[in-house]
Amino acid sequence: MTSKLDTSIEFLKGVGPARAKLLNKHLNIFTFGDLLSHFPFRYVDKSVFHNIKSLVEDEYAQLLVSVSNLKIRTNGKTRWLTAKATDATGQMELIWFKFSDWQQELLQAHQYFVIYGKVNHQGNNPSIIHPEVEPYNPQQQSSKARWEGIYSSGEVLAGNYLHSKGLHKLISQCLSQVSERDIPETLPQYMISKLKVISKYQAILQIHQPRTELEINQARDRMKFEELFYVQLRLLKNKYLRQTQQNGILIPKPGLSYTEFISNFLPFKLTKAQERVLQEIKTDLKSGHQMNRLLQGDVGSGKTIVALLTMLMTIDHDLQACIMAPTEVLAMQHYKGISELLAPTKLNCELLTSQTKTRDRKLIYHDLESGMLKILVGTHALLEDKVRFKKLGIVVIDEQHRFGVGQRAKLWEKNESTAPHILVMTATPIPRTLAMSLYGDLDISIIDELPPGRKEIKTIHVRDFHRMQLYEFMRKEIALGRQIYIVYPLIEESEKLDIENLNLGYQKLLEYFPEPTFRISVVHGRMKAQDKADQMDYFVRGLSHIMVATTVIEVGVNVPNASVMVIENAERFGLSQLHQLRGRVGRGSDQSYCMLMTADRIGKVSAARIKIMCDTNDGFKIAQADLEIRGPGDIDGTRQSGLLELKVANIYEDNRILQAARSWAEQILKKDPSLENPHNRQLKGHLLLTGSAKFWGRIS
Ligand code: ADP
Ligand code: MG
Repeated sequence: MTSKLDTSIEFLKGVGPARAKLLNKHLNIFTFGDLLSHFPFRYVDKSVFHNIKSLVEDEYAQLLVSVSNLKIRTNGKTRWLTAKATDATGQMELIWFKFSDWQQELLQAHQYFVIYGKVNHQGNNPSIIHPEVEPYNPQQQSSKARWEGIYSSGEVLAGNYLHSKGLHKLISQCLSQVSERDIPETLPQYMISKLKVISKYQAILQIHQPRTELEINQARDRMKFEELFYVQLRLLKNKYLRQTQQNGILIPKPGLSYTEFISNFLPFKLTKAQERVLQEIKTDLKSGHQMNRLLQGDVGSGKTIVALLTMLMTIDHDLQACIMAPTEVLAMQHYKGISELLAPTKLNCELLTSQTKTRDRKLIYHDLESGMLKILVGTHALLEDKVRFKKLGIVVIDEQHRFGVGQRAKLWEKNESTAPHILVMTATPIPRTLAMSLYGDLDISIIDELPPGRKEIKTIHVRDFHRMQLYEFMRKEIALGRQIYIVYPLIEESEKLDIENLNLGYQKLLEYFPEPTFRISVVHGRMKAQDKADQMDYFVRGLSHIMVATTVIEVGVNVPNASVMVIENAERFGLSQLHQLRGRVGRGSDQSYCMLMTADRIGKVSAARIKIMCDTNDGFKIAQADLEIRGPGDIDGTRQSGLLELKVANIYEDNRILQAARSWAEQILKKDPSLENPHNRQLKGHLLLTGSAKFWGRIS
């Protein structure tokens, strides 16, 4: 049965086909239901007005100002709009990089405006970029709801009147068209009573249109609980199934490939941590149950060799193994690394990505089905139905957070009878207790030790002012035979701008590092896969001195001779991401450096974040700090590493709710493991919408 929530967003008054496209593309909003589950990430108290004099950097402020001096400025390429805002205490600048005619007309047609936005400070001059503006209207002002939700949108949407306020209007419109009947309850009544939470319908109303702070909290708590509860229920149910059904592929002990490799071909001595993890994996493989293990280890801790050895453990039992990476580049790296390690042996492996030529692809398909091919490395291409194994024994998934839970499940289905063993590897550090809840269906192994002989990477904050010194330093390192990465940030919304940024940087770089004395590789997301691979290859083989790249090199790339990582606009990266990037160097025995470049003047928060990076190399500390400094509800950071694709809950802040949700899920499954009890009808129905990040239940 379809519900009103499934109505296409195009048909909401005020949307239409063009805006519907934008909402599809930028916010993944396709239906009424999607729109209603786009929740505010914060709320402003509309009864509070700030003074220009007392504005605080990086904080959001609402002001009542008169606007004047509207000007379009230009520096050749870029055009932007500025205006002066004045109140009794001072003046400030308003800036729009994206603006339209109607916006200018609006600003000209009135004098007083209520404006809202995040404050920048340049010296003593405050400004707001892309403020929301609304002509001041005293009557309307007093009748307005006090709390207003702020919704994430983005440059493009904002340019089409789909900024926070615009979205707010659409959502109000949508809410006026749905009734309680249209919003099915997703928790059983007995849970609602016991938990004393508000109904789903009420929560949706209150989250968008709260009248009090209490209403905000009630609505958020309800949605957070629900979100975390279903995650736990799903994870625990999987785990339960795995443990009760005796369906693991039995591998009593590793075969010849493994033992031979260990005694003859291991290029280094394993660390204690690597040994321990391998032991844990062996135990799983001979248990008769399906292994489903998460391997956590900081960047550079040596997860790849563990993956390879695990694969070798299985392949002698007439089984096959595969490893799946999130990007082409990474898959390629794994392929090379593993091929090298396997070179002295009789074993071989193949690479399968979307770039693989049809002829090679057919061969691979054939050899997989016949069982000739034992080890396959690849990307999402492995998930395609055409990829059929004779018998898949183990799947290794690298960098888990890039793959959804659903994709993991798809790999399991590659075997008709028995699900293959699964090893998931991640470099995103999460404290153990939290990891247990997050990956409730996985067992956890940790490599908590780096290979010996690594020198700690020196991390230095370099302001633009000192750029020439940086270049001098780079020349010296190159003279010593080292290689250097320079990374530019990538922001989805203005990819074009970023590549411009990168190209500009590249041009500037050429002046100081002229060819042919110096050779520079360039890699970015818009390049053809083959060009990208060639440029990477160039650098990996030591033929170029500098690699200029957007974040495509973020994970997994391994060039031990690279000793300097320069990160441009470092303040635009998340801390965990900076840590990942930094992990690309320090892989050889040379002293390595990470240079965090920023503008000369940066905000307090940015400065604090950069300082953490300079102070510690410990991924766990950084992950924690990342969440603490970022603070609740900061929009730039909410897309974190996508750990669980949580929409409302924050695993760190909402730990209490998480624990409660987990214990509810445990209790329920203990009594009713397959959720057959009529009381649990909603639970079962909702779970069936597997992997969906949506909140809506099924109407039955
Ligand atoms: P990550 O955990 O980030 O995937 P890698 O598996 O890429 O780390 O390993 C990083 C580097 O450390 C590689 O060059 C690898 O060959 C090397 N390495 C791994 N384990 C050891 C070890 N026990 N001793 C010495 N070097 C090692
Ligand atoms: Mg790796």
